[in-house]
Amino acid sequence: MAIATTNPSTGELIREFDALNDRQVREALERATAAFEDFRLTTFAQRSRWMHRAGEILDEEAQELGELATLEMGKTITAAVAEVRKSAAGCRYYAEQAERMLADESWPIEGDAVFTRYEPLGPVLAVMPWNFPYWQVFRFAAPALMAGNVGLLKHASNVPQVALAIEDVLRRAGFPDGVFQTLLVPSSAVEGLIEDERVRAVTLTGSEGAGRQVGAAAGRSIKTSVLELGGSDAFIVMPSADLDDAVNNAVASRLLNNGQSCINAKRFVVHDDVAGEFTRLFVERMEALRTGDPTDSGTDLGPLSSAEAVDTLDQQVRDTEAAGGRVLAGGKPLGGPGFYYPPTVITDIPDGSPAHREEFFGPVALLWRAADIDEAIRIANDSRFGLGGSAWTRDREEQLRFVNEVETGMMYINKMTTSTPEVPFGGAKDSGYGRELAEFGTRAFVNAKTVWIS
Ligand code: NAP
Repeated sequence: MAIATTNPSTGELIREFDALNDRQVREALERATAAFEDFRLTTFAQRSRWMHRAGEILDEEAQELGELATLEMGKTITAAVAEVRKSAAGCRYYAEQAERMLADESWPIEGDAVFTRYEPLGPVLAVMPWNFPYWQVFRFAAPALMAGNVGLLKHASNVPQVALAIEDVLRRAGFPDGVFQTLLVPSSAVEGLIEDERVRAVTLTGSEGAGRQVGAAAGRSIKTSVLELGGSDAFIVMPSADLDDAVNNAVASRLLNNGQSCINAKRFVVHDDVAGEFTRLFVERMEALRTGDPTDSGTDLGPLSSAEAVDTLDQQVRDTEAAGGRVLAGGKPLGGPGFYYPPTVITDIPDGSPAHREEFFGPVALLWRAADIDEAIRIANDSRFGLGGSAWTRDREEQLRFVNEVETGMMYINKMTTSTPEVPFGGAKDSGYGRELAEFGTRAFVNAKTVWIS
């Protein structure tokens, strides 16, 4: 895949970038190693000042930075600016909290000083996706840099300008040369980078396939890895739910980021008693959305990220339909120019069809009916993914059953799944392992060293 900016709302190729050659990659790795030697000795107070400044720059330049994301991957300008501001909030949060999260931790051995000290690992490779091109990077970088690591970003090939802008923001914030570098390289270079002894750990946010390869390479090199992969989150609606609220959240959660988020609600599991009314309202509200130019602040749904994304989704929908699925809304690409796919609803999902087994990365909602809570939980768990999920019910016992029995890394009750700086994020099953954010994420790339002073 070429490293290039292509405008998804027109299909126009805007700018191509040369990949770094071997010598340039080597030099970047040497810069990272050299930078780490000094950076690891800086104080939290110093790192915090730089991180706060990064947050300020993101806030000050949110509009221009947001426009870059809209240009490169097609999210609406409103969502893009909000994402930059969330990244700023993430910088501030870890600037303030990392020292507390990484303070020495004592163990109760009488007479001796016994504690864990959290030391940075060194250069960490971050392989990142295009769908939240700022937030995905900052939710790694803010805690990891505050811990004293240095970052190497291999961003998705379709967001090179955002990738370079992030490096620039961190440099202007004051982080020393080499502490955070963007490497414009293709995905074929990732394995070699993981094997390089200067790279100490790797984090990947992306697809399951990439996860298997990155995880295997990290395993071969015995390096720490975090994998944040795909999802097919269930959104369960029970009879006691506030139906209007549930429908509004169902639409918002399915269409977040033009339907291209790992934590979009993708499988809707609705109790028989409310399934008819839920479906009617859901289809009505999905069809009422405005699809179009993502730079227009009145647009609800912009284009998908690429022509391939439209082709993949189209094929999945057609195969599901051919297997017996029933399309209630949308169901066909809108046609060029641009990579547009309309809000789509499919029901009567056949077992074994793509809708049952695969992640649908676009604005396609998949509907199941459940006779009771046992069946709802069974359907929710009938997936190899286990990222997030939400359940809508005012019944306390039902809430607890969903919390305890749905096999996911995150479970939300009467709230759509979300990613926010203060709360741990990550999945179970084929959605990956490890956690980002909060204490878990801040300690993802540290050597937890046991110290015993007698
Ligand atoms: P992708 O193809 O896996 O790309 C993600 C990143 O991995 C890109 O930088 C890509 O580089 C690189 N990459 C691709 N194949 C690779 C390989 N074999 N070895 C090493 N690196 C590789 O993912 P995508 O389809 O663009 O992104 C969407 C996926 O990410 C969805 O499945 C979504 O659910 C998941 N996601 C998960 C989370 C989470 O937190 N769990 C968050 C967001 C997205 P190139 O661009 O150069 O190919």
